[in-house]
Amino acid sequence: MNFIYRKKYTCWICLEESDGLFSFAWTRHECGCSLQVHNKCLVRWLFATNLRVWNECGTSDFYRIRSLPELKRRLCYVVDGHRNFQSEVNLAETVQGIPAVGQTWAAFLCILEMAVRVLLRIPPSEPQTDLWRGLPIESVACPQCKKSITKGRLYWHTSSLGLHAYSIYRSVSTYAATFALFWFLYSNPWKQWFKVGLYLLRQVFPESILQQILDVSTTRALDVYTDSMNGIECVPARQRFLILGFPLYLAGLLSPSLPLGYMQQIYPWTLVTACRNSKVVLRVLSMELFIASLYSKVAPALGRSLKKKLLSVRPYFNSPKDFTEHRTFTEELLRTTWLDCITDVTLLFRMSSFISNNVLQSIPIITRLILKLDPTVSPNECICVQNLLAIGIVCCGREVGRFFLAYRRSRELQQLQRIVEDDEI
Ligand SMILES: [Zn+2]
Ligand SMILES: [Zn+2]
Repeated sequence: MNFIYRKKYTCWICLEESDGLFSFAWTRHECGCSLQVHNKCLVRWLFATNLRVWNECGTSDFYRIRSLPELKRRLCYVVDGHRNFQSEVNLAETVQGIPAVGQTWAAFLCILEMAVRVLLRIPPSEPQTDLWRGLPIESVACPQCKKSITKGRLYWHTSSLGLHAYSIYRSVSTYAATFALFWFLYSNPWKQWFKVGLYLLRQVFPESILQQILDVSTTRALDVYTDSMNGIECVPARQRFLILGFPLYLAGLLSPSLPLGYMQQIYPWTLVTACRNSKVVLRVLSMELFIASLYSKVAPALGRSLKKKLLSVRPYFNSPKDFTEHRTFTEELLRTTWLDCITDVTLLFRMSSFISNNVLQSIPIITRLILKLDPTVSPNECICVQNLLAIGIVCCGREVGRFFLAYRRSRELQQLQRIVEDDEI
């Protein structure tokens, strides 16, 4: 909601006066009247109005509000400013918004998504809840001019800048990933996948090491192969697996809920054995992969126990019948979908190459440590180790950041659900 600067303002609902500075706790009337109201009072007012309508007229077939807890859940959904944190992939909905061609594309995408789910064995998305149906009354009328107080949707959130930034990132990410996916499908997907895999491998491994990994005299030859469909088929199976599997493996690291099966275990060890000629790269890579696989084993149990400790309210978006015990704390509050993985992987590589080139290279201790591991290290191996370290650092940073965001989000949900649960009005 908008913050306002006033010396003295009075809430027209609870009549409380305040003389503060900027405040996220207040709403300015967008109808033009010079009135102020607390955000939380507005949410309660909306609840009271809907409760009155519900008590007097019951519910219609469209809204299907059968109980008071359901009415409360709907209200939380309607006013939740960060409800996109929970949204399932819903690529079709994003595309539907594009004028003229959106509807046709959306239908095409629905079929495509079903095909991808079947191929990659992604379980069907959770049964739809009725939350999207909303409430019969979703805006509050101004007491003076009787127009709606806000021009758009009435929404509530805390003043956390981190959550705000993440919300913007998520919206941008959905659109960016949608366009990337369209480009991918428009050109030959198989060929593009190969190109992306090769590009990502080049970001981590300098040419001479990549030649050892893929067992070729020059990787330029692979670029020529990608120009034709038959060319890719000429690439030996092991090389193809290493190149095509790399993006998938990374996506699996970022979103453990992606069901990649044995691929997640086979890929890293294939990569490690491919690096056997370079002692130092082999050591650092196997150490990182060991930590990653250990973390993926420990994280779910840790996440579930954190959820029990930190999440004192049941999030409104989990329907009472849902069985969501298996989700970890961060996954429950910030859901990553396979669409998010596209932007996350891109961002991960941008950031880690920045850190590797600008930060790690200028720290002499790192070079000294690498020399201690192997005194005969070549400059290319040194760069490779720095890249690997940078990726490790960015992944750790991402986990910490996500935990912090999930924690803030849990506090936000607690506040919102308390406002609605409060029966003082
Ligand atoms: Zn108030
Ligand atoms: Zn007004």
